[in-house]
Amino acid sequence: MLLLRNLIFLIVVLYTFILNLLLFLNKVFSPVFYFISLTIIVALFIVVEVLHSLRINGMIQSIHREKERLELNAMDMENESILLKTLTDILETFGEEISIEEVLDKITESVKNIFKQETVALQLLGETFKKSFIGKPVEIPDEMLGGIVLKPRPILVNNTSSFPEYKNLVSQGVTSFIISAFHHKRKITGMIGIFSFENRVFTLKDLELLRMVSAPTSLLVENAELFEKTKVLAITDALTSIYNRRHFENIFETTVNEARDKKQPLSVCMVDIDYFKHYNDLNGHPAGDYVLKKIAEIMRKNIKGSDIVARYGGEEFILVFPDTKKENALSLCEVIRESIKEFRFNNEESQPNGDLTISMGIASYPEDGETGEELIKKADFALYKAKELGRNRVITA
Ligand code: GH3
Ligand code: MG
Ligand code: MG
Repeated sequence: MLLLRNLIFLIVVLYTFILNLLLFLNKVFSPVFYFISLTIIVALFIVVEVLHSLRINGMIQSIHREKERLELNAMDMENESILLKTLTDILETFGEEISIEEVLDKITESVKNIFKQETVALQLLGETFKKSFIGKPVEIPDEMLGGIVLKPRPILVNNTSSFPEYKNLVSQGVTSFIISAFHHKRKITGMIGIFSFENRVFTLKDLELLRMVSAPTSLLVENAELFEKTKVLAITDALTSIYNRRHFENIFETTVNEARDKKQPLSVCMVDIDYFKHYNDLNGHPAGDYVLKKIAEIMRKNIKGSDIVARYGGEEFILVFPDTKKENALSLCEVIRESIKEFRFNNEESQPNGDLTISMGIASYPEDGETGEELIKKADFALYKAKELGRNRVITA
């Protein structure tokens, strides 16, 4: 095309040159000839220029198209790099000792990098019903969560008000949303949702990004749950599920120090099952284990949140009552002793005193000792006296 345009220019220039040369050599043509020649030249110019401008227009349009394509590509690449960063941020916590709440918060924060204007909500649907969200609060209706568990497919809704089943979300102002569930061993363990209040139009690409994030999320949640379970296992006694002796020793001294700092009383009670060897010998070890479990359970039910109960030895337990004077600890322990006495253990009537009972010894801060060690010694001595006096009783130091 460019070649044709240049060729026409060349012909016109040559033609004009020849005409001028002939004019110079006194060879004059009729005015009509000149007029027609001029008309043809102008018409040729117009045709060539129109064709040329059409071509330029086409080129400009294709450049525009290319620019838009490149811009979209750049946006995709930006989103992908944000996603990569998000995934790296999320995966960085893998293998770390981190609580489930921290994991959830970290994931929602990372996903928020991709969906800056929207609410990011993450909810666990397994044993723990924990959740985390950033942005305008959204309460995901229970029936919707139930639906996700039953049919774990990704959801993309761009016009929430057109769906009667989402009227609860509509009433909260949600205009569009996407949801992706995550699972572990084919069990749904949770979901991530992005909720817009500003009519964002979600695309399949957005849903794809969300699905990519939800895959490592279930692994991280499982990792955190495992850490929490291990932590609990390390501090509890396997048989009775109360604190073990090692953990008790870790926290006891601190509890005594706190009482000293706050100038508050504190009571300690040593507990021992009466004639337990007899019970074991007569009924077998498994029956004895059941007694240990039941006694731990009764004690746990009878204490409040700040009190401590731990398995101190084979059939010995220890109770700690912070901010509790000796006489109050005595009545609390009497309730426990009575509850255990009243509980019907299998074949307890064959015990030497006709009943399965416990003996208890109490010592209190500050009157019986300044340190944890002293208090335990005094409580142990009181327990020894309770045994001497005939068992099934609470004795104070
Ligand atoms: P006392 O009234 O003087 O405390 O008599 P006792 O028979 O309870 O005391 P002793 O210390 O002689 O016996 C404690 C028994 O506790 C011995 C053991 O068989 C039993 N025991 C300790 N740990 C466990 C356990 O984990 N499971 C079971 N079943 N029995 C245990
Ligand atoms: Mg004992
Ligand atoms: Mg005993």
